[in-house]
Amino acid sequence: MNREVCAPTVREVLAGGVPFFSFEFFPPRTEQGTRTLWNTVRRIEALSPAFVSVTYGAGGSSRDRTVAVTRRIAAETTLRPVAHLTAVGHSVAELRHILGQYADAGVRDVLALRGDPPGDPNAPWRPHPQGFRHACELVHLVKESGDFGVGVAAFPEMHPRSADWDSDIRHFVAKCRAGADYAVTQMFFHVEDYLRLRDRVEASGCDTPIIPEIMPATDVRQIRRFATLSGAAFPEDLARRLEAARDRPAEGHRIGVEYATAMARRLLAEGAPGLHCITLNRPSAALEIHQRLRTTVGAARN
Ligand code: FAD
Repeated sequence: MNREVCAPTVREVLAGGVPFFSFEFFPPRTEQGTRTLWNTVRRIEALSPAFVSVTYGAGGSSRDRTVAVTRRIAAETTLRPVAHLTAVGHSVAELRHILGQYADAGVRDVLALRGDPPGDPNAPWRPHPQGFRHACELVHLVKESGDFGVGVAAFPEMHPRSADWDSDIRHFVAKCRAGADYAVTQMFFHVEDYLRLRDRVEASGCDTPIIPEIMPATDVRQIRRFATLSGAAFPEDLARRLEAARDRPAEGHRIGVEYATAMARRLLAEGAPGLHCITLNRPSAALEIHQRLRTTVGAARN
């Protein structure tokens, strides 16, 4: 694959100012999961998204699989991969090693994250003795390790561990000043939460673009679990409609795609730079949302 085609980083895509789609995958554990992922990657590739990202397992658990999937996307597709990387459980030397693997594979974009404690994500956060306490230190390391573009996490409903909005925004802005080119949000279900976060960040003099993450809520049990983990408030009205469609998956799918599409449309109208869509390695909801919005969203990679 010709990496020249993918050479610009997400930073350059954002500089183009054209609203875009991007997609998130996770590294599968099984052979069947790998087949499902690659089927999805190929379907998504046909949409020419701005980038695709690959998550890093909770507690740093998927290190090798994340590296392998991200490298394979870089080597075998025309997609621009963004590697999630968390500080949890890693010494600085290990983080440097992983970054070296990415640089060798031509991966030029990293989403720099602190991560949550392994096992119980709500347990007290303890940094690795030779590692980092906060994501902003990882941003510094990524920047000094090569010519990487760097993204960071943003939280439309405030990070669950932040004491208050003031400290949350102050630490977010510190990550941006450390060299982040953009941020991607946690999943959320109320557009106002994104707009309030953006206003707060802008009011503190920071203009780092914040890309909203879209989670198509098609299965109420799954989404409630994710929402509990991420701290996102799940709208009761949407939950009731999905509960009522519990035994009719096609209807649940339709409801979830419609809700996500309406949110996405409004976010773009409000000036969001693009939409980062969670796929859970399945293509259908993402493809439908893309189909419904494709006249609004450009193919930013071209
Ligand atoms: P930080 O920016 O370090 O913030 C964590 C907390 O510490 C916040 O309350 C912040 O205000 C506070 N803080 C920051 N700096 C300081 C400071 N200097 N002094 C005092 N307090 C400070 N997790 C995974 O395990 N794998 C993934 O692939 C993954 N992908 C994600 C993708 C996105 C888009 C998002 C939004 C989250 C993702 N996460 C992932 C979850 C993330 O790792 C957790 O939410 C984690 O708790 C916070 O990470 P952070 O990078 O925002 O940390």
